[in-house]
Amino acid sequence: MSSINLKHIPERSCAVCKAKTAKKNLIRLVKSPEGLAVIDLKCKLPGRGVYICPDSNCIERAKKSGALARALKTEIHEDFWPELEASSKNFAPNLNLKLRSVLGLARKSGTLFIGQERIANAENKKFLLMFASDSSESVKKFALSHEHIELEMNMQELSQAVGVKGGVQIVGLPFNSGFAKSVREFIF
Ligand SMILES: [Zn+2]
Repeated sequence: MSSINLKHIPERSCAVCKAKTAKKNLIRLVKSPEGLAVIDLKCKLPGRGVYICPDSNCIERAKKSGALARALKTEIHEDFWPELEASSKNFAPNLNLKLRSVLGLARKSGTLFIGQERIANAENKKFLLMFASDSSESVKKFALSHEHIELEMNMQELSQAVGVKGGVQIVGLPFNSGFAKSVREFIF
């Protein structure tokens, strides 16, 4: 018996907790030619990358243990840590995880409006709209007339997040709901 790996997902380990995960779930750091630790969110800078979880526990541990400095073979300036904290909070996979859980809960509680038609039919309701990155132009145009977020998720991922089969392009949370409030808190 042999198994065929159809889609190879590159993995890396966090320099601090050693957890191995898909490279895209970790923050890449490199040592610049000047010897500074640099955050490389786009994963494009040359040099050997060192990876860390976008997680305040790992960052705190890195600070105390010197694990990142050792892995990068350079000293780490104090200014670097707040920058790394901020990057981890805004890290897209982290935001998507939080969003997924909020959208899932909103769906279960019946607060989530799924699809442009349902949103448009809820007259006089103000919404926070979120649309998939591969939504149609007309859905995007519709979203632009409300407060909206373009998700870093495609239709398939958004459908999964809300637990619906098929291509969900757009969802809406009533503007004054607690769910909309919590999304706004971690996105804006
Ligand atoms: Zn870690």
